[in-house]
Amino acid sequence: MGLFSFLKNKFSKKEETKPSEQEEKSLKTYEKGMQKSRKNFASRLDSLSKRYAKVNEEYFEELEQILIESDVGVDLSLRLIEKLLDDAQKEGISDPKKINELLIDNMFVDYATSGDSIENEIRFAEGSVTVLLVVGVNGVGKTTSIAKLARRYQQKGKKVMLVAGDTFRAGATAQLSIWAERLGCPIVTGKENGDPASVVYDGCQFAKNNHIDLMIVDTAGRQQTKQNLMQELAKINRVLGREIPGAPHESFLIIDGTTGQNGVLQAKAFKEVTDLTGIVITKMDGTSKGGIILSIRDELGVPVRFIGLGETMDDLQEFDLDKYLYGLLLGDEEHE
Ligand code: GDP
Repeated sequence: MGLFSFLKNKFSKKEETKPSEQEEKSLKTYEKGMQKSRKNFASRLDSLSKRYAKVNEEYFEELEQILIESDVGVDLSLRLIEKLLDDAQKEGISDPKKINELLIDNMFVDYATSGDSIENEIRFAEGSVTVLLVVGVNGVGKTTSIAKLARRYQQKGKKVMLVAGDTFRAGATAQLSIWAERLGCPIVTGKENGDPASVVYDGCQFAKNNHIDLMIVDTAGRQQTKQNLMQELAKINRVLGREIPGAPHESFLIIDGTTGQNGVLQAKAFKEVTDLTGIVITKMDGTSKGGIILSIRDELGVPVRFIGLGETMDDLQEFDLDKYLYGLLLGDEEHE
């Protein structure tokens, strides 16, 4: 059985066994949020397969174009098409719909095999504070994502606190403090333009003294030179590691899903200056073309752990590869 059939079975079975109210709500949010990015891809895939009775050279060329225009990235798009051509020839497949299914199968394999494990939830340190460092450029949705992550783990019964390590942007501390108040969680802040590492040091003391489970650290998001960024993050990492064993346990990069290949370039730049354990892609409810998820994974080997699907603190979903790829194959007929 092909992977697509497997996924389809898996999802239709889910419907038969009646999902819980919570599961249903979560699936609906996900579906609604992903609808736009899906439209950009699935409907094009769908209409392509309807225009051809059998695949030929032009079909593959068009398919390649769709992939590139959906932000899958040139390199990965070319590789996927090459593999698809090869598979199609070997297995004698000429039905466009089958080819599209095979493409999704290959995307799955590429994602699952490029890099680190794809467990989404934060791995908590045993018996001490777990530290999540959050990096990303201004405007991508970093502050909102921090609030969403805090909320997620509060709801799982964890004692969460925030550290306002972005001392350089006017208003960043104030903005994060508003979220902390809404969340009802403690926040440690410093002086504007002060040394972020010293705020982080204060944060560590607070966390240790107050039996915090999860400390989420915001960092400066200005577009600085690579050298500055590297030094700043290295200093923060040094302080964290000295004060809390194994910290930071997780380092998430926030990327705006609507920025396409620009987002991929940002991700590469951050990966060069600090170790990343996960990516959060925001604004997937906007005009994102979706392919950025595959592209980032392929180029960086870092898994997408969560996706942002709106502006409130509940609009965060765990990234689910099955659901995502299955969604890419659902044409408009099933959704409108
Ligand atoms: P920061 O500068 O990176 O800290 O970005 P903010 O968290 O302040 O977010 C910038 C803008 O993006 C705000 O207007 C947010 O409401 C919005 N935003 C953040 N995440 C999402 C998301 O997942 N979906 C949508 N639609 N908007 C988002």
